[in-house]
Amino acid sequence: MTKFEIPTEQWAQVVEKSGGPVVYKKIPVPKPGPDEVLVNVKFSGVCHTDLHAMMGDWPLATKMPLVGGHEGAGVVVAKGELVRDIEIGDHAGIKWINGTCLACTFCMQADEPLCPHALLSGYTVDGSFQQYAVAKAAHVARIPKECDLAAVAPVLCAGITVYKGLKESGARPGQTVAIVGAGGGLGSMAVQYARAMGLHVIGIDGGAEKGDSCRALGAGAYVDFTTSKDLVAEVKAASGDGLGPHAVLLLAVSEKPFQQATEYVRSRGIVVCIGMPANAYFRAPVFDTVVRMITIKGSYVGNRQDTQEAIDFFRRGLVKAPFKTVGLSELKDVYHLMEEGKIVGRYVVDTSR
Ligand SMILES: [Zn+2]
Ligand SMILES: [Zn+2]
Repeated sequence: MTKFEIPTEQWAQVVEKSGGPVVYKKIPVPKPGPDEVLVNVKFSGVCHTDLHAMMGDWPLATKMPLVGGHEGAGVVVAKGELVRDIEIGDHAGIKWINGTCLACTFCMQADEPLCPHALLSGYTVDGSFQQYAVAKAAHVARIPKECDLAAVAPVLCAGITVYKGLKESGARPGQTVAIVGAGGGLGSMAVQYARAMGLHVIGIDGGAEKGDSCRALGAGAYVDFTTSKDLVAEVKAASGDGLGPHAVLLLAVSEKPFQQATEYVRSRGIVVCIGMPANAYFRAPVFDTVVRMITIKGSYVGNRQDTQEAIDFFRRGLVKAPFKTVGLSELKDVYHLMEEGKIVGRYVVDTSR
């Protein structure tokens, strides 16, 4: 077993008050509790949730001061005395679900994201925008050594989330799924997971450029909502037999696509909400929902098993997330680009600079 030198101080990006900004400064290295590991975070993806957490946008309070980040990939450098199933030197991922009670009815049924006592990385506990982060050993993602730590980082939130959504959609190999927001960061991963799961994909997004990227990733059809005269008819027509896709994955950041999904989904189809536009409501006609037996549901991150499965698709080379690496010190600039909507692909911060 390798012994790691653990410093007492480290670089971190700290939100000192709700609304930001982030302050790049030195803070103490945390110590893992008995059931926790200390991960030397090498790379961390930057997710929109991190910006929402800094801005205090959501109806759930964050800890303060706060170190954000929940796509941290690194190396286990210390562990508590109760930790048996992960070793120092192993590669591990800090994900949104940092820890849960493992004893409530949800945890017992592998629905640990629903645990009322869940600890959330970069939200209710410090996350991965620091060189050393703590997480419950039971919950850190196990990352195989052959996976590149920068490239796998976006799988830890975006990948798990869309993969779980596809599982929740109930779509089986050979069936068709419509992915709304297919050209975005989550969408491009969803298209790849769906293809790898043997599904036909209809990508829905705005602009010709996004259409090209969806098709390049394996979408069999693309519907451009900015130019489509009748989106509902076009999506149904793209589903092969014209009856509509078996499932719809809603990754959109605006409300309107949520209202259209029940119009084009096939009878008996399942509409899965994943994206969370601010203050959005889902409206669907009760008549159609009943007589066409449509299911509308939400899907929220994934459990430990979903995590390992999502990483294994990545390990086998079936999914890739385009990413750009910048220093942890430059996180503020990434947030500016996010606010301006100028992010293409995922930004991954390198904690060594
Ligand atoms: Zn995220
Ligand atoms: Zn629980």
